Amino acid sequence: MDFLKWLAALPFIANGVKLNALQNEVAHNWENSDKMPLLFLGHGSPMNAIEENEFAFGFRQSVAGLEKPKAILCISAHWETKGTRITAMNEPKTIHDFGGFPPELFAVQYPAKGNPELAKSIQTDLSPTAVGLDYDWGLDHGSWSVIKHLYPKADVPVLQMSLDYTLSPAQHYQLAKQLAQLRRKGVLIVGSGNIVHNLGAVAWDKMKVDNYAYDWATEANELVKNWIRKKEHQPLCDYRQQAKSLQYAIPTPEHYLPLLYVLALQEENEQANFFNDKAVGGSLTMTSVKIEKA
Ligand code: ZN
Repeated sequence: MDFLKWLAALPFIANGVKLNALQNEVAHNWENSDKMPLLFLGHGSPMNAIEENEFAFGFRQSVAGLEKPKAILCISAHWETKGTRITAMNEPKTIHDFGGFPPELFAVQYPAKGNPELAKSIQTDLSPTAVGLDYDWGLDHGSWSVIKHLYPKADVPVLQMSLDYTLSPAQHYQLAKQLAQLRRKGVLIVGSGNIVHNLGAVAWDKMKVDNYAYDWATEANELVKNWIRKKEHQPLCDYRQQAKSLQYAIPTPEHYLPLLYVLALQEENEQANFFNDKAVGGSLTMTSVKIEKA
C-alpha cells in the first residue's frame, strides 16, 4: 500500500403450561432486547480514525441508542494468520500497522481491555476448529480506527479474531456461523474491511472528488449489495466465479472476508441496512452494513 499517496490525500479521505408460557415470554423478551446487531464497517484510510468526516459520523450513528455491549469481537482485514487466532490478553496494545502517516495518527492509543475468559469461551464455541489463543497481537488499525468512533472512551473490551488464510471464503462463512450465540451474550460482532478495495487502481488525483468510483467499482458494489438485500449469500461466497468487476474489486480477499463473517450470522427476521455507501478514489468503497431485526 502506498501510504505516501494516502498521506497526500488526507484532507479528504477523510438482532405446568403457565410456567412454560412464562418461560417463553422471558426468553422472547430477552432475545428482543439483548441480541446485538451485526456490523460490517468499511474502514478505508487509517486517517478516518482521526478525521471528523461523514464516515466517522456514520460509524457513530451505527451504535446510537444501542445498549453498551459487554464486549466487541472484531474480525479485521489486517490480521491474517495460518489457523484462526483470537486475542486473549488483558490489555491488547494499539498497533500502528502502517507507515507514512502523520505523528497524530501514530500517537493514537485505544486502551480498550481484552477479555481472556471470553476468548477461551469463543475458542470452545469454534470447536472442533482449533483456534489459538493469542498473546502477541493486539488491536490493529482495522479494529481501532473504527471502534474508536463507536466507543470513544474505550470502555468496552475488544477481542480480535484473525483470518485464517488457508480457508476458502465458504469455509470462513461456515466458521462464522459458530459465533451465533455470542450475540445473545451481549457481544457486538464487527467485521472491518472494505467491499471494494483495490489500492493498486486508486485514482490518487480524484481523491477529493466526492463519491468518485470507476464503473467496475460501482457495478461490484451494487452486485454485492443486491445479493445482501436478497439474502443470497452463496454467490457472495463464490465471488471468484462472478462478474469481472468483482475480480477487480476484490483482488485479494482480506478486506472482503470480514463481510462474510457478518452475513453468516444474519437470522431469518433480520435485514441489512447500508450506510457510508460511498466510493473514494475510484477503487474503494466505504459501504458499511448494519444487520438488525427488520
Ligand atoms: Zn484496511
